[in-house]
Amino acid sequence: MIFLGTGGGRHTTMYQTRSTGGILVEHGDGKHLHIDPGPGALTNMRRIHYDPSKTDSLIISHAHPDHYSDAESVIEGMTFGCWKKRGRLYGSPTVVSGKGKLGPCISKYHLDLVRDVNVLEPGTVVDVDGMRTEICRTDHSDPTNVGFKFESGCGTVSYVSDTGYSEEIALQHRGSRVLILPVTTPNDMQIPYHLCTEDAVSFIGLVKPELAVFIHLGILMIKNGPEKQALETEKRTGVRTISVRDLDILDVGEVISLSQSKTYNDEWIPDSSP
Ligand SMILES: [Zn+2]
Ligand SMILES: [Zn+2]
Repeated sequence: MIFLGTGGGRHTTMYQTRSTGGILVEHGDGKHLHIDPGPGALTNMRRIHYDPSKTDSLIISHAHPDHYSDAESVIEGMTFGCWKKRGRLYGSPTVVSGKGKLGPCISKYHLDLVRDVNVLEPGTVVDVDGMRTEICRTDHSDPTNVGFKFESGCGTVSYVSDTGYSEEIALQHRGSRVLILPVTTPNDMQIPYHLCTEDAVSFIGLVKPELAVFIHLGILMIKNGPEKQALETEKRTGVRTISVRDLDILDVGEVISLSQSKTYNDEWIPDSSP
């Protein structure tokens, strides 16, 4: 998986202190899944020369802009520039239909371009291009927000998505080999519906994964030094914990390894372009 963005929360997003482009996952037999394409997704796809027409499925966990703002352009990429009805979209009820003051996040025009639109409900299981995926609850200001447990060929990878901490939320992710946690604030700086480092320590202590990964870093977390916060968490939990950077590649095979994407700064036109 490639982290197109490791930032999160309003200030990191509006300043783009770090990108907020979500995660690109290559799985199975060359399938491509894009999770939560917020601001910066398109820019960073170009920087690594990733052709968005290769995307097979798009997941949007909830109706906050750091998770969905680039989604309609990703759909245009997935459908070869709106020429071919193609691909799958998975989204919370707020993303797909809207609820209260939240959403919908995708226009009817773009929903019609996608071959298959799925509304996500906690407690269900979906098949994402052959990858079994459990849908988990969160405690967030978008009450329909969901987290995910992806059954990769090499163990379970959890993407928790934005949430406040509770034992109940954390226990859903037991059995995960890699736990991707949105740790928005440092130390014990709790803000509603989000995790701080102190919450991450409790969360990781209950799940006991092989690796915990900090993403969705808020501006105070970035100022505080997320690598230091991750190291402190590792010392307290005994679980390997890292804070990733934009365009890091996490390879979950028999061995888990981390590297940086090769980046380009040219006017790139992919082969699929007219
Ligand atoms: Zn967020
Ligand atoms: Zn959110």
